[in-house]
Amino acid sequence: MKTKNYSASIEKRFTKVILSVTSLVFFISYLIFVVIYVKHEDIRTQKLTETISVVISQDLAKLIFLNNIAVAADITTKLQSFKILKSAVVYKNDGSAIYEYSKDDKSFTPEGRCKNKGYKIVGETLISTTNIHYSGSRFGCIRMKLQHVTIFDIFKKYILQVVLFYLFIVLLSFIFASLYAKKFTNPILKLIKFLEEVELSNSLDSRIEITEDNEFGKLYEETNIMLESLQKSLQEKEKADKEVAYLREYDSLTGLPNKELFIKSLQKQIDFKTTKEWHIMLCVDIDKFKVFNDIYGHEVGDTVLQIFAGELKKEFKEVTLIAKIGIDEFLICYRNVSDDKEHAIQKVEDMLNRLNGIVSNSFCVHSEELHIAVHVGANVYAKTLLSASEILQQTDGALQNAKKEEKEFSFYSQEIEKKAQENLNIYNDLLVAVKENQFELYYQLQNRDDGSYFGAEALIRWNHPKLGLLAPFKFIPIVESSNLIIDVGTWVLENGCKQLSLWQNNPKTKEWVLAVNVSTKQFAQDDFLDIVQRCVKKYNIPHNKLKIEILETLFSDNFEVMVQKIQKLRELNIQISIDDFGTGYSSLQYLKYLPVNQIKIDQSFVFGMLENEADKIIVRNIINLSKAFKFDVIAEGVETKEHFEKLKEYGCHYFQGYYFARPEPIGKIEKVIATIAKK
Ligand code: C2E
Ligand code: MG
Ligand code: MG
Repeated sequence: MKTKNYSASIEKRFTKVILSVTSLVFFISYLIFVVIYVKHEDIRTQKLTETISVVISQDLAKLIFLNNIAVAADITTKLQSFKILKSAVVYKNDGSAIYEYSKDDKSFTPEGRCKNKGYKIVGETLISTTNIHYSGSRFGCIRMKLQHVTIFDIFKKYILQVVLFYLFIVLLSFIFASLYAKKFTNPILKLIKFLEEVELSNSLDSRIEITEDNEFGKLYEETNIMLESLQKSLQEKEKADKEVAYLREYDSLTGLPNKELFIKSLQKQIDFKTTKEWHIMLCVDIDKFKVFNDIYGHEVGDTVLQIFAGELKKEFKEVTLIAKIGIDEFLICYRNVSDDKEHAIQKVEDMLNRLNGIVSNSFCVHSEELHIAVHVGANVYAKTLLSASEILQQTDGALQNAKKEEKEFSFYSQEIEKKAQENLNIYNDLLVAVKENQFELYYQLQNRDDGSYFGAEALIRWNHPKLGLLAPFKFIPIVESSNLIIDVGTWVLENGCKQLSLWQNNPKTKEWVLAVNVSTKQFAQDDFLDIVQRCVKKYNIPHNKLKIEILETLFSDNFEVMVQKIQKLRELNIQISIDDFGTGYSSLQYLKYLPVNQIKIDQSFVFGMLENEADKIIVRNIINLSKAFKFDVIAEGVETKEHFEKLKEYGCHYFQGYYFARPEPIGKIEKVIATIAKK
């Protein structure tokens, strides 16, 4: 705040007051002094008249009684010695003047009589009438006029000293005033400086040091107390403001952001951060929530909401935002899910499964086991010009649709919804498939360049009770996006090892290697190595006959941990092949660090290499690279003789493809084995 310029100073005012008071006191004192001085002079003059009358009384007696005229001259001489005596007239008792004296005026004429004894002041003259006695009797009186000292005389007489003294007093007062004024102004200035610092620092943390043991000390203390209570009330206000702000943006029951904050945050995200094309929004509504409140009371209803919100936060840690936008309505927003729409839809399915997981567990509230159901409105949206509220509106529309049609979920887009519904059905069927063991392993034989078989790849198939035999692309992505991959993957490993152990008993297949596909999620499991070792041990197969096929995506996360795992498998003598090589990330960079045995050229390059120059270059380079790093290289998707010949020409010695064999059930494979000539 801008303050006024305060030019007047207490010090100046104090000095002025002190000077004025000093001057006044000085002048009054001086006046009193002068009056007393004058009075004193009067008394002295009066006493002098008495002395004069005594001094000359003897001579006068001689003059009156003896008529000795010569005495008159003595009297005059004596009177002349009194400097302030102007004139004197001596009267006899009969009133006649017998002697007259005048100091200056020769033509002096006596006047008056000895009527009243006493003194009278007339102007600068004091007139005194005194009786003259001789031998105890009065024989006349003397009337004298003496020089009288006036106030003005005194002033005139001491004017220089007075002025000098006054100036001295003024100087002293000035010094005293300014020194003494500082005793008052310094503590005030200290307080002003402190308050200015408080203002500048914009903080009420500082306190003034109490250095005075007087009223200023009290003033400092009160200032500190005031600051403290100001700070306290500000803090309370801040806290209250925060609470109000919090309640404006958060749901007080669950601590989740409310609708307003959700829209604000999402809009920010839309405006700034879009690293991937596709995003997900789910709107989740607890079915018939009102019933909880009506039957069990609001307290139980609130607890259900709190538990559900907690579960959402726990389960969906990876999502961008979770909010509560109505009494029983929650939003889950997952930004930058994928660049691939299909993948984003799969992610929604995964999220729906996880939501199902939450809902399928009962909530224990006040020893009541409560079950809830939800409706979900789902929206998969791309980089868009739509605002946050418009996307929310779409998702809410999907939720309303799910509620209206009494469905578990509904998508904003019908086409997506259909796909999601199919996948969800598959997921539910998969749960049964795992339990009822509806899977089967097919085997695709692998060849050397002389056409002889050296092993096979195990490829899973699902004997769906209604849909028939399903290829992996129909269900493996769903299996991979859920935890089912652990069960299914272990099943494949176990059955692959079982088959390998059987081949061990046949001299034709004893040296065969079986390749088993392992998904990235499965490989990343902590107990993956244990599971592999357990299977190998259980079926007592030579470790080097098992080949694990991994994908390049394995290395996009936690490269070092994955490499360590591969190293451990290699120490166990288990073979590792990188499947679909060339389709993943920066293959060449990490290749030199990988302790793998084999690289498998992806079929897409094999399909394209005859016509497409780029594919041809890729295939040739992968083969050369493998030679340089001393990996085996196998080509998959070898469909024709041309493929086979070209690959051979490029230096590839191992092949997998329809040209030699299709994936077949074990029965058919055994028939093929039977046709192999004995060694
Ligand atoms: P993959 O591991 O690259 O397997 C090779 C796929 O190419 C197989 O498809 C196979 O049938 C097909 N194939 C082989 N030669 C040819 C050919 O000459 N022409 C054509 N057009 N295709 C050929 P399939 O059996 O449908 O498997 C697809 C994918 O599913 C596999 O690709 C693998 O990634 C995955 N998969 C299969 N079984 C399992 C499994 O047990 N576990 C896991 N995690 N994934 C599996
Ligand atoms: Mg494979
Ligand atoms: Mg492949």
